Amino acid sequence: MSASLATVSYIAAIILFILSLGGLSNPETSRRGNLYGMIGMAIAVLATVSGPRVTTGGIAWIAIALVAGGAIGLYLARTVKMTQMPELVAFMHSLVGLVAMIVGYASYVDPTATAGMAAAEVTIHHVEVYVGVLIGAVTLSGSVIAFGKLSGRIGGKPLLLPARHWLNLAGLLVVIWFGYRFLGAHSIQEGMTPIIVMSVIALLFGIHMVMAIGGADMPVVVSMLNSYSGWAAAATGFMLSNDLLIVTGALVGSSGAILSYIMCRAMNRNFISVIAGGFGGETSAPSAGGAAQPAGEVVPVNAQEAADLLREAKSVVIVPGYGMAVAQAQHTVYEITKRLRELGKTVRFGIHPVAGRMPGHMNVLLAEAKVPYDIVLEMDEINGDFPDTDVSMVIGANDIVNPSAQEDPSSPIAGMPVLEVWKAHTSIVMKRSMASGYAGVDNPLFYKDNNRMLFGDAKKMLDEVLVALKG
Ligand code: NDP
Repeated sequence: MSASLATVSYIAAIILFILSLGGLSNPETSRRGNLYGMIGMAIAVLATVSGPRVTTGGIAWIAIALVAGGAIGLYLARTVKMTQMPELVAFMHSLVGLVAMIVGYASYVDPTATAGMAAAEVTIHHVEVYVGVLIGAVTLSGSVIAFGKLSGRIGGKPLLLPARHWLNLAGLLVVIWFGYRFLGAHSIQEGMTPIIVMSVIALLFGIHMVMAIGGADMPVVVSMLNSYSGWAAAATGFMLSNDLLIVTGALVGSSGAILSYIMCRAMNRNFISVIAGGFGGETSAPSAGGAAQPAGEVVPVNAQEAADLLREAKSVVIVPGYGMAVAQAQHTVYEITKRLRELGKTVRFGIHPVAGRMPGHMNVLLAEAKVPYDIVLEMDEINGDFPDTDVSMVIGANDIVNPSAQEDPSSPIAGMPVLEVWKAHTSIVMKRSMASGYAGVDNPLFYKDNNRMLFGDAKKMLDEVLVALKG
């Protein structure tokens, strides 16, 4: 393929990636968005492999890598459980970081990378290498720790070292100093020490940064690492003088940054304080503040009683959370929705932006169960309707319906917007026990007079509710 054909293909791929991002912003167009992305990526890979920079000898290696990578990707995509998606995403980000590091080192030691360049161009190339390896290392180690936290291999409690901000600042100064040494090096051997020292510091910084972040802020961290992985890819693009990688990396980097900002707003968190860390893993016991300690008794109901409440209601709002994903109850949820609609009830879904364990988690599950998009509403669209709702049914959700976010200023989740299910005439919470949710805080909703608890696995209980509704 000639260089100009490769450039045209790259432009086509870039346009498809932009269309893909546009499509992914809405559940109704997301399948199309995915398709655009897949076609764009296929064009990008083909144009690169058959492009002018790949020698005939290299094709065999690329074919081996494509088959091996494709097989691993296919295997992971087919076997990963929906609840493990955030871990998988974090793991993928770590690979982008690793690649940026490897390309950085390879590009530094490869004499042909700077052949024929003027001194100023070589300096620019070395800046690209240094920055690329730096971002790659932070992304790599940060993503590995995020993977560990999301998969439960590392505890969610934030690790808060004494004077941690000073430690980070000292690390930054050392990185700048070694950057100066790196650019002043007269030979590759001389430059190796500064870049290796910087890599170690950057790896430690990535570990420290994510270790300091508490469980409840993990969604923001995942999208932030997504953004980092984009910048790492863009840095790789600069090192390799590959326009497609630069643009694609910038698209991922900026969209990840925008998503992080949107999520911070959804959780009423300040982006800087999320990065500074510490929130969300303080305790798994009831909140220590004491201002709004939950008190009183809960009122348990059985499936028949829950079905009776639903049968008497005119309007129902269903709020799904992580537990629905664990129980894989989305299909039964839709069966119940269909049954209730047959009975003439208005049934809608209220989706919190951070319900579940990844952005859009609930939307994906409901779409899989073929729930119509027009009855699935965002938190802001539905929150005002709860006072006019007869029954709100919470399925395996906890933090996202916790009134202490509004009522208890000492709560670790104070200020986080929540779905106000308790304002409905009656709320039913479906979960297995009184255990707390991801943020580890108790939930006063359970003790409210108008709340009923339906204890048990969400799938099993919903099956029983469905039988009762059909009976
Ligand atoms: P939560 O983790 O707050 O609560 C889920 C509840 O589901 C638990 O209390 C659990 O209670 C219950 N549950 C678990 N398994 C089952 C089951 N099989 N059947 C019935 N119930 C079950 O989830 P939410 O969705 O309410 O909130 C999401 C939380 O996760 C937020 O704190 C958010 O910040 C965080 N988070 C979100 C991410 C995202 O991007 N969306 C990523 C990472 C974290 P019990 O054990 O008693 O059954």
